[in-house]
Amino acid sequence: MAGGKLQAPRGTFDVLPEDGRRRSALRNACAELFGAAGYGPVETPIFESTDLFARGVGETTDIVQKEMFTFEDQGGASLTLRPEGTAGVCRAYLEHGMHKLPQPVKLWYWGPFFRHERPQAGRYRQFTQVGIEAIGSDEPTLDAEAILLLAELLANAGAQGVRLRLSSLGTPATRRDYSDELRKYLHGREAELSQEVRSRIDANPLRAFDSDHPGTQAVMRDAPKLLDRLAPEDAEHFAAVRALLDDADQEYDIDPALVRGLDYYTRTVFEFTSDALGAQSGVGGGGRYDGLVEQLGGPPTPGVGWAAGIERILMVSEVEAGAENPDVYVAQEGQADSRMAFRLVRDLRSRGVSAQMEQAGRSLKGQLKHADRIGARSVLIVGDGVLHVRDMRTGDQRDAASADEAMGIVEELTA
Ligand code: ATP
Ligand code: MG
Repeated sequence: MAGGKLQAPRGTFDVLPEDGRRRSALRNACAELFGAAGYGPVETPIFESTDLFARGVGETTDIVQKEMFTFEDQGGASLTLRPEGTAGVCRAYLEHGMHKLPQPVKLWYWGPFFRHERPQAGRYRQFTQVGIEAIGSDEPTLDAEAILLLAELLANAGAQGVRLRLSSLGTPATRRDYSDELRKYLHGREAELSQEVRSRIDANPLRAFDSDHPGTQAVMRDAPKLLDRLAPEDAEHFAAVRALLDDADQEYDIDPALVRGLDYYTRTVFEFTSDALGAQSGVGGGGRYDGLVEQLGGPPTPGVGWAAGIERILMVSEVEAGAENPDVYVAQEGQADSRMAFRLVRDLRSRGVSAQMEQAGRSLKGQLKHADRIGARSVLIVGDGVLHVRDMRTGDQRDAASADEAMGIVEELTA
C-alpha cells in the first residue's frame, strides 16, 4: 500500500529518550537490588514453541485462549511471542540442567512481552516486564523474599498508592477437591452467572472469582473459599510466609478471592496494585508454582516468582530521571579545524569528562546558546590557533596555551 502513513502497530509504543532514561534508571535499580539478593540475570528468546505456553501457562487461561501472538515459521512449526516469562525461564532451567546446581537457582529478567489485548492506558500488545524466579526450594523465606523485593523495587521507583493482596491456593489436590465443591456451588446458582463464567464452570471454576459481572460477583461473595480448605502443611507454609512479612513490617490484605491468571500456581499468590492506575490496577504479581517444572517434563521442582509491568510502574511513579548535562561543550570559532575539536572531545571523554561538540554548523553565538540550553558546565572554544574555556556559570573566560591546559581547566570546572 504505497503512500499510507506509517505508524507503530496498534498497542505498541516508541520509547523516546526522556522516557528511556527513566526506564534505564529503573533497570539499573533492578540489577542492583536483585544482584544484592543473589539473583543472576537471565535472558530467554522472545518467541518459544507454542506448546511451552500451552503446557506452562495453562490451556484454560485467558492468556492461552485469547491473548497469544502465534505464527508458523517457514517449516510449519508453531511459535508464539512470549506472553509471560516464567515458562521460558523454567524451560531454560531444565534445558541447561540447572536442577543439578546448588538450589535454589535465583534468576531475574527484563524484556518485552506480547499479548493480543484491546489496547488502553497501561495495557499494550507489546509491553515490558521485569521478573524474578527462585527455583528449587519451597522455603517460605523465598516467598517472603520475592514479595519484599517487589515491594522494595516499587518503593525505590516512587510508586504511589501501592497495596499488596495476598492469598494461598494450597496444593493441586486441595484445589481439585475445592474445585469440585465450587463447581457444585456454581451449578446450583448457574442462572445468576455471566455466560462466560457459566461456560467455564467445568474447565476452571476458580476463574469465576476474576469476573467483573455483577451477578457473578454477588454469587462469589457467598461462595466457599479455598483458604478455608487448605491442608495443614499448606496452611503452615502460608502462616510462615505471613510471619516473615509481619516481621518486615510489610502490610498486606488477605484476599481469599485472589486468583492469578495462570494455572500452575500453588500455595502463595500475591498481587501489588496501585490506586493511581484506576481500572488497570495490577502493577505486578506472582506466586509459587511448585508443579510447573514437572509439568514441563522435569523432576518435581518447587519455585516462586513474580513479574511486574515496567510501563505501569512508571505510570504510578513520580520520580523523574535526571537530565544528562554535559560537563563541557566543545565549540568552534571561525574556520577552526573540526579534527582538533573532535580529538579534544575524545580525549576529554577518555578522562571521564562528558563532552559534546558542535555538529550542526551553528555560529559561535548559536553554539554558546545551545551549550547553555543543554546545561553544559563549560565551553571549550577552539579558535584558529587559540583555545578558550568559558565557565558557563559565571561567564568568565580563560585562555589556554595548549590542549592539555584547556582540558585541565575544564576538569577543574567539572570537579
Ligand atoms: P491484568 O489483570 O491487568 O490483565 P495480568 O494478571 O494479565 O494483568 P500478569 O500476567 O500477572 O498480569 O503480568 C504481570 C504484570 O505485567 C501486570 O501486573 C502488569 O503490570 C503487566 N502487564 C500485563 N499485561 C499487560 C499489558 N497488556 N500491557 C502492559 N502491562 C501488562
Ligand atoms: Mg491480563
